[in-house]
Amino acid sequence: MNNSDQKIQTLLSSQPRLRLFLDYDGTLADFRDHPDQVEPLPEVIDLLKFLRNSGKIKLAVLSGRRLAHLQALIPVNGITLAGTYGLEILKADGSLHYRLDYNRVRPALEVLKPIWIELIKDKQGFFLEDKGWSLALHARFAEDVIAANLLEKAQDQAAETLDIKEFRVVPGHRFLEAGPLLADKGEGMKYLLEIDPPEEESLLYLGDDDKDEAAFRVIQSCGGAAIRVCSNVINQAIEDWRLPNPQETRLWLRSLPGQLA
Ligand SMILES: [Mg+2]
Repeated sequence: MNNSDQKIQTLLSSQPRLRLFLDYDGTLADFRDHPDQVEPLPEVIDLLKFLRNSGKIKLAVLSGRRLAHLQALIPVNGITLAGTYGLEILKADGSLHYRLDYNRVRPALEVLKPIWIELIKDKQGFFLEDKGWSLALHARFAEDVIAANLLEKAQDQAAETLDIKEFRVVPGHRFLEAGPLLADKGEGMKYLLEIDPPEEESLLYLGDDDKDEAAFRVIQSCGGAAIRVCSNVINQAIEDWRLPNPQETRLWLRSLPGQLA
């Protein structure tokens, strides 16, 4: 056992209950080819029900996916589902909560959308995902240089179109997303902890990519731990521990109820 294992074990065994925050893609489930693939995975559903039924763990899934997709992927009640980085939330009690007024967000995206559609028209390997609260450009299957050039152009167009006091444009790996400033996993985490403050509960967040890092920082600042699902060595590792892939993560998560005080 190394120091990181020890830290997580100590954290878990210090309290009788756990607040568990999970990213979905790349953490609970392997990536799909297309973000519109929303068939639930039996192994994920089964795991989440097992954790929920333990009676010791309060679960929340925090994802960049829109809430409707999360609901399709996780048709399990009693779990908080936070979509679009925590902008749209289905609470564990079944109530819905939106952190912004959709009618104030959408008009600016309606201006940007045709500009991006025009930009990727006739280009191979690009896809525009309209998430309602945000627009995401995917370039996963485009040729390297073409992808880089086009995403740079798309970023410039978004910067010219959107008000930077209300919107942000977030780059990722072969990806670009324009959405409200509040569409951020750090902001989402803060909000989830604010509406349901932890009591005699350890805090744990699992995520795989750079968008999860804002949530890592929030959970750590509240005395919790962050686990990254990733096999690569990352230069600036801010996580407390690492699991290699979604499959190993699901196995490890099964052990959680037994590790609590
Ligand atoms: Mg992810």
